[in-house]
Amino acid sequence: MLVDAHCHVYEFAEEELRRYASYRIICVSEDLESSLKSLELGERFSNIIPFVGLHPWNVPETPQSKIKEMVELIERREVAGLGEIGLDRRMCGEYEKQKEVFEKFCELASEYDLPVNIHALDAWEEAVEILNKYDVERSVFHWYNGPIELLDELLNSGYMITINPAVKIQRRHRLVLEEVRLEMIMTESDGPYRYRGLYLKPDMIPDLLDFIADVKNIRRDDLEELIESNFLRFLK
Ligand SMILES: [Zn+2]
Repeated sequence: MLVDAHCHVYEFAEEELRRYASYRIICVSEDLESSLKSLELGERFSNIIPFVGLHPWNVPETPQSKIKEMVELIERREVAGLGEIGLDRRMCGEYEKQKEVFEKFCELASEYDLPVNIHALDAWEEAVEILNKYDVERSVFHWYNGPIELLDELLNSGYMITINPAVKIQRRHRLVLEEVRLEMIMTESDGPYRYRGLYLKPDMIPDLLDFIADVKNIRRDDLEELIESNFLRFLK
C-alpha cells in the first residue's frame, strides 16, 4: 500500500486523481470551502480520507462565523480527522489568534477522538505542548523540520511525523530522517506544491520510499509494510 499522509487532493483535476487510485491519501483541508470539497471527495473516492481543517496561514483573515461553521461541520459530519491545523511563527502573523483556533481544534480532536494533521513551522514545541494539554492521542507533524531533540517527546506521546520528497534536497529534513525511528514515520507529498524545482505530488512517493529505504538501510518492501501499519494505527 502506498501512503500519502498529507495531500491537498481537491487542488488536482479529477482525471489526475484517478491516476492515484492505488494510493491511500489523507486529504487535508485549509479552510471551510476546501473542507467541504474534501468531504465530498471522500464520499466519491474510497482511497481518499477527508480531514477538515483551517491552515494557520488562513487564520488571520477567517471570520469567527466561518470558524463556527467548521466546528459545526466537525460535530455534524463524518470526518476522518482534523488538519491541516497548527501554528506558524515564520510565515504568518496573529500568533495569539492562531493559538486560540488551534486549541479549539485540539479540544474537538480530543472530544471526538480524531487524529490530527499538524503544521507547526517554527512552533514545534508549542504545538506539542497544546496537543498534550488537550490529551490528543493521535497526531502527525507534517514535513517535520523541528528540533531533533523533540523527536523523543513525540515518540513518547505516540505522535508521528511525515517525510516529504524534499528530503532529497533539504538538508534539515534529511537530518530528521536519519535520526527518526521508523515506527513513527509516514510518507507525504503535500501536493500539489512547488518546492525548489520539485513539483510535489503523490506519484513521487515510490521514489521517496526507495530513498528512505536506502538512508535507513531497510528493504523497500519492509519499509512499505511498516509505513502501512503506522498509517493504519494513526487512523485506527
Ligand atoms: Zn499542506
